[in-house]
Amino acid sequence: TRILLTGGSGFIAAHVLDILLQHGHSVVTTVRSQEKADKIRSAHSKFGKDKLDFSIVEDIAQPGAFDKAVVSDPPFEAVIHTASPFHFNVTDVQKDLLDPAIIGTTGVLKSIKKSAPSVKRVVITSSFASIVDGNKGSWPEHTYTEADWNPITEKEAIENAANGYRASKTFAEKAAWDFVETEKPSFSLATMCPPLVLGPIVHYLNSLDALNTSNQRIRDTIQGKQKDEYPAGAPYLFVDVRDLAELHVKAAEVEGAANERFFVLAGEGLPKEEGEGGGFPEGGVYKFDNGKSVKVLGAKYRTLEESVVDTVKSLKAVGA
Ligand code: NDP
Repeated sequence: TRILLTGGSGFIAAHVLDILLQHGHSVVTTVRSQEKADKIRSAHSKFGKDKLDFSIVEDIAQPGAFDKAVVSDPPFEAVIHTASPFHFNVTDVQKDLLDPAIIGTTGVLKSIKKSAPSVKRVVITSSFASIVDGNKGSWPEHTYTEADWNPITEKEAIENAANGYRASKTFAEKAAWDFVETEKPSFSLATMCPPLVLGPIVHYLNSLDALNTSNQRIRDTIQGKQKDEYPAGAPYLFVDVRDLAELHVKAAEVEGAANERFFVLAGEGLPKEEGEGGGFPEGGVYKFDNGKSVKVLGAKYRTLEESVVDTVKSLKAVGA
């Protein structure tokens, strides 16, 4: 199958690319520059242009950014859209987070509808950020599932970067489902909602300072920045990037994933209740249900230990 993968230079997308190639698909991936394309090409030199090719999309927030990228010979049958900003280093939440997330998502869907009628499935990397209700905190009596939507408002979205990121994922995913409902395109949609994603780095990194956001806590821990106590912050769930990538590809391949939302996670990455620091909430924390991903996509999840060990090994290889 010929598949378009957006944001090929990213942490998660690099694993998705590996699995697409392993499954024998023919892939075109979008990157922001020729230099990034060259780096990915050299890491996959055994694949010819017919199996791996590139399309430059400098800024997904520009209208029509994907018009050219969605056109291919042979034509695409599926699109996996991962590109979206995930960092908190922002000066303008609207321009730096919301616009690329939302316009990037609606933009790729519009371009597909207009110019790539052969596409049957679109998979979008959404997030647990579009499920979790930040105002409910630890909410021990609740079990999060695909039925939950983050109720964050436009006003809250621009209050700070953390809200901005969560809102960017929520509004972008909502916009995608609205698009499918109102535009009735010939493709079906599947959205993937992972919490914190950990795991080995396989994409090109200039330096450890350029490490993707979700692995930074592990980098900081092994560099001794969290020696004295657990860092404070919300309890978090996790998933290994290799499992998540496999599930993106399954969601592109499997009939049963059509128009489904998937909460994809392995489990908790919490310190023990009796541990020092970390602010373990009294009464416990929310529960989760990943059963749909297991049933429909055949998900198998790596343990926290395996994920962390392999992340640390890969960070050491990049110089941590
Ligand atoms: P990365 O930062 O490694 O990847 C983000 C990708 O998006 C990069 O390829 C980046 O390109 C691209 N991108 C961002 N903004 C633009 C833009 N304006 N124009 C073109 N390309 C852009 O992070 P992840 O791999 O972690 O994130 C991938 C996806 O997964 C995102 O949608 C993110 O929201 C989602 N996600 C991640 C989680 C995690 O814990 N890692 C958890 C839940 C969801 P470049 O590198 O060139 O800037």
